[in-house]
Amino acid sequence: SAKEGRRSKWQVYSKELSAAAQRWHTLSNDIHDARARGELVIHYQPQLAVDSGELMGVEALLRWQHPNEGLISPALFIPLLEERGLIGEVGQWVLESACRQCSAWHAEGRPAIRVAVNVSAQQFYQDDIVSTVRHALRSADLEPQWLELELTESLTLDESETTLRTMEELKAIGVTLSLDDFGTGWSSLSYLRRFPLDRIKIDRSFVRDLTTQSSSAAIVHSILELARSLGLECVAEGVETIDQLNHLQRELCSEFQGFLYSQAIPADEVSLLLRARENRGASNIRSKAAAM
Ligand code: C2E
Ligand code: MG
Ligand code: MG
Ligand code: MG
Repeated sequence: SAKEGRRSKWQVYSKELSAAAQRWHTLSNDIHDARARGELVIHYQPQLAVDSGELMGVEALLRWQHPNEGLISPALFIPLLEERGLIGEVGQWVLESACRQCSAWHAEGRPAIRVAVNVSAQQFYQDDIVSTVRHALRSADLEPQWLELELTESLTLDESETTLRTMEELKAIGVTLSLDDFGTGWSSLSYLRRFPLDRIKIDRSFVRDLTTQSSSAAIVHSILELARSLGLECVAEGVETIDQLNHLQRELCSEFQGFLYSQAIPADEVSLLLRARENRGASNIRSKAAAM
């Protein structure tokens, strides 16, 4: 009967719901020791100059290799870490590892590259973020200008005095501050006015539709113009096609990252990119010398 049909549908639905709740519960328990078990790894996504294609820096992106579930997205487990109050500890580990790694790359060759680390709102408001950053730089022996902190407006950074003071303290250390996922939050413009930012990252959603939707093209155009007039650098996220890259070049965007060039890769693959860059340099010099 219709009534039974409804009931069984409901039962299926509630079974699915509880399976999802169960999975969340399991993952929430598993994340507790994930780092101790060595399941959390940091990959790095290259950021390149739009004009020259030169490697300028990398963004550190956390990965969780779960023993049963496979690779789990940070979009899922960062909220878990926050919920369990583990984001501070894990965030500190990411900062320290990324700084150490960047310092090691510098020792492998010049020109030096930057490393960008995402800082979640909860981590930002823990009262030791400034000393955590200072300590990470010092213990890695990394000069502050090579560290960039990515803050997300959509993660409820509020416009309080505390936010401003913390950002100013971070600026005073000499690190670069950037606003991630720009354009997706409610208060993008007032953020730019109020906070001491250096860079903005154009959200992937605008880049995705850049060459197919005139409204996205108009928004990207305006963001770049705004950034220029405020003296901010711009990085476009999620560049997947050569058409998108060409469009960004015409619009004078300075840097990009995206699958067109590379997804986030392990640290030793970044080293290979750095070495390839040097070899290219050397072979350029060789071919120039041969031509003389
Ligand atoms: P995000 O900071 O905006 O990072 C960019 C995301 O876009 C990454 O997703 C990256 O893999 C993805 N992406 C880059 N290029 C492309 C592209 O061309 N196409 C597509 N489809 N995607 C692209 P991912 O690694 O899954 O990270 C998701 C979010 O998780 C990050 O967004 C960031 O907010 C957060 N996250 C990652 N690692 C950390 C971390 O160490 N700490 C904190 N607090 N958050 C992190
Ligand atoms: Mg980011
Ligand atoms: Mg982003
Ligand atoms: Mg983000």
